[in-house]
Amino acid sequence: MALDDPLLQGFRRFQQQYFSASNPVYASLCQGQHPVTLVIACCDSRVHPPALMGSQPGEMFVIRNVANLVPPYSPHNEHASVAAALEFAVLSLNVGRIIVMGHSGCGGIQALLRRSTPRDSALTRWLAIAEPARELTYRHHAGASAALQARQCEQAAILVSLNNLLGYPWLADRVKTGQLMLNGWYFDMHEGALWGLDAESHRFVPLVCPLERADC
Ligand SMILES: [Zn+2]
Repeated sequence: MALDDPLLQGFRRFQQQYFSASNPVYASLCQGQHPVTLVIACCDSRVHPPALMGSQPGEMFVIRNVANLVPPYSPHNEHASVAAALEFAVLSLNVGRIIVMGHSGCGGIQALLRRSTPRDSALTRWLAIAEPARELTYRHHAGASAALQARQCEQAAILVSLNNLLGYPWLADRVKTGQLMLNGWYFDMHEGALWGLDAESHRFVPLVCPLERADC
């Protein structure tokens, strides 16, 4: 194994940061995890939630999948991977907040819009979860530019996932009683900005503006 493997070098830096005698972060984390937030994000290598939000190990429970989708609730455990992680995060870890985090330039959403994946592929079946977002986009933005359609569909897919979350009965119960908060966030990597879904207007509004536009 090459000693200059950049991933091993990366682990050594991590080791220095979190296992040093002066800052033994994992000494307590080894006793158990108590994350307060669950983030559901895309697999995209440019969308790394703990890095984007400055979270330390142990603070954030993360589910990542293509296009940050939440499948509709199914008692037959279809798409059991996401359902199992949701169950664990909500019922065992008692997270108090779930953030569905979409992003600009999402390849999954692009494939959904263009129907560019093979018909019988797992990817096609998975992306079908966001079909309502595709329909909404083409119904309301038929003549818009491809870039605007992509943005609309990326944001509509976040709404689809938030709506699907409320179909999980044990999760909806916690939202109703105020034990659990749901947020929809959108990372615009082109502008370096963060947008959030406004619960009243159902529109995305700036949470963190681009660096050069602090007044937005
Ligand atoms: Zn993506």
